[in-house]
Amino acid sequence: MIKLFAANWKMHKTQAEAKQTAEDLVRLSAALPPGREVLVIPPFTALSATMAGIGGAGRFHTGAQNFYPATHGAFTGEISPAMLLDTGATFALTGHSERRHVLGELDAFVGQKTAFGLAAGLKVILCVGEKIEERKAGQLAEVLTRQIRLGLADVPKDVVPEDISLAYEPVWAIGTGLVAGPAEILEAHVLVRKLLEEIFGAPARRMRILYGGSVKPDNAAEIIALDNVDGVLVGGASLKADDFSRIVLA
Ligand code: PEP
Repeated sequence: MIKLFAANWKMHKTQAEAKQTAEDLVRLSAALPPGREVLVIPPFTALSATMAGIGGAGRFHTGAQNFYPATHGAFTGEISPAMLLDTGATFALTGHSERRHVLGELDAFVGQKTAFGLAAGLKVILCVGEKIEERKAGQLAEVLTRQIRLGLADVPKDVVPEDISLAYEPVWAIGTGLVAGPAEILEAHVLVRKLLEEIFGAPARRMRILYGGSVKPDNAAEIIALDNVDGVLVGGASLKADDFSRIVLA
């Protein structure tokens, strides 16, 4: 399985900053080991500049943080999958914790977006993860089961497995500096794999499961080596090309 190193820039960077960071990242990651690929997910406004910065470098991709599940129409402020593909973006996130918990997206809507994005030709990374109070209440399995079953409810069973990835991102570890320990990551990723196998059967073994939550240059190697960890989704530590290149080379 090719490991995916994804940089979620959230609401950061102008076009010029994005282009420069992407150029620096490609240069600093020239020794990218085989079996790895890199995905940069800037704000919509910097997608084209990020593409320009990548400059056609192999194994570097761009993706979007969000989209609306419709082809076009009266959806003020929204962006369609076709518009993203038009910029050269090939991936998109759905269900990121900030969209769920800050912007109020519900499981059913996340599911609608996931299926729509895949049907429109995007590779989709469905993000799931429990809040600290859910973990403390022993609800990890319940939360992941609900988010994954509803998030994938409308995805055809014969979806190309490489087109869909899951990102396990415990909400308590995002942007907090608190990273889940190896045992916690292993437990959650086994659960995610089992759920994917229940839904899609054997092809689920070809679906990537990423870990996200305070991944940094000094913990990336340990995390990426764990069973069922097929990549990482990185927020804060992806903003500087130097830090993120140390993660992709870890
Ligand atoms: C994220 O935004 O998906 C994320 C994991 O952020 P951070 O790496 O900053 O915790």
